[in-house]
Amino acid sequence: MKSGMKFDVIVVGGGPAGATAALKCSLLGFNVMLLERAPFWSKPCGGLLTPLCQMILYKRGGAKIPSNILSNPPILNVCYIFLENMATSVINYRLLNVRRRLLDVWLREYALRRGVEVWHGAELVELVEVEPIKVLVKAGGRCRVVETKYLIGADGVYSKVRSQLFPNTNFEVAPAIQEYWAGGGNLKDYFYVFFSEKLTRAYAYLIPKDNSIIVGIWAPREDIDVMGTRIELFRKLLMEKFSFKPRFLIRREVWAVPYQCGVVEGAGNIILIGDAAGFYNTLTGEGIGYAVESALAAGESILEASIGGGEASKIYRERVKERNAFLKEMHRVATNLTDDDRRNFIEFLRRYASTSSHLDLKFM
Ligand SMILES: Cc1cc2nc3c(=O)[nH]c(=O)nc-3n(C[C@H](O)[C@H](O)[C@H](O)COP(=O)(O)OP(=O)(O)OC[C@H]3O[C@@H](n4cnc5c(N)ncnc54)[C@H](O)[C@@H]3O)c2cc1C
Repeated sequence: MKSGMKFDVIVVGGGPAGATAALKCSLLGFNVMLLERAPFWSKPCGGLLTPLCQMILYKRGGAKIPSNILSNPPILNVCYIFLENMATSVINYRLLNVRRRLLDVWLREYALRRGVEVWHGAELVELVEVEPIKVLVKAGGRCRVVETKYLIGADGVYSKVRSQLFPNTNFEVAPAIQEYWAGGGNLKDYFYVFFSEKLTRAYAYLIPKDNSIIVGIWAPREDIDVMGTRIELFRKLLMEKFSFKPRFLIRREVWAVPYQCGVVEGAGNIILIGDAAGFYNTLTGEGIGYAVESALAAGESILEASIGGGEASKIYRERVKERNAFLKEMHRVATNLTDDDRRNFIEFLRRYASTSSHLDLKFM
């Protein structure tokens, strides 16, 4: 075991949260190390970015998304469908459809070019000490202890930083499953969101992605065991109601999303961001935008703490207070929704907000 290395900031996890936080801290003048244990992994994700997320990345992070990470079709509007009566509504929301692995690779490269020391294939094994902060890092088959003034945990929904910092805190998650199918039909340029309590209390979805179609579902408060049956039922309904004719399964991904009411900000000079903290909108299913937003707030909090003194996590808690309150409210709404509410929502959009109230659902 080697020791002796020292950084101003160590960021654990090179997803959207971690790469953005490392980039921000480096731009603010800190000496930053970014650890990513699985650089070739594609995190299970729909890869849809809201206009707000694109704007935050560009205006506050200086990062303009390059066209070579976009999927085909690159822009999707949102089509809501209530499965029981087939009511549909399309809204002109312009989600960016990206290849998720390439998004992460691009963000890490972007951070690297701006001075971040990126360690690929490097894993945080243990939070050894909290004051001063020392972490045990495994890279290239060797373990070493590295010291840092500030630590950012951006290691996703199953965060080790979080579980070691708060070993007795329960962190609620919801299982999610996605299948990539070849064939299936000619979908329009939509992110199709399906509501039906038979399937899930959240939503099931279809995303056209290059030469495949993603069939996905996530189900709060359900056991992972029921997910296989749910996605099968969803596929069956798609075949019955939409002439969906998938040719073959390319791959299946099983993961989880945070399903917390309120975020876990961190303690002392250790800050949690993105999924690790629970920055996730349980109503809309969006996480990447909040990952980026919390990452920028973490960088700014560390700067403030380093100039004015005080614990970075306290400053950060204050900075994300409003976002936390908003996400709590979204959680409250999401957990109380009924099918009637969803039907009324689609009806409301059809009347007042949709670009089209009639849709040819036979996309074959
Ligand atoms: C099926 C599914 C579909 C989704 N679709 C969308 C969508 O379309 N749009 C959207 O906005 N959100 C979506 N989300 C949510 C979104 O994927 C997450 O909110 C987002 O990825 C969070 O980013 P993050 O950087 O916090 O965490 P992650 O993206 O999970 O990144 C964490 C990183 O940390 C690394 N890591 C973990 N442990 C360690 C360790 N010990 N040492 C070093 N590295 C480590 C991992 O390898 C990973 O790269 C979806 C989620 C799921 C499950």
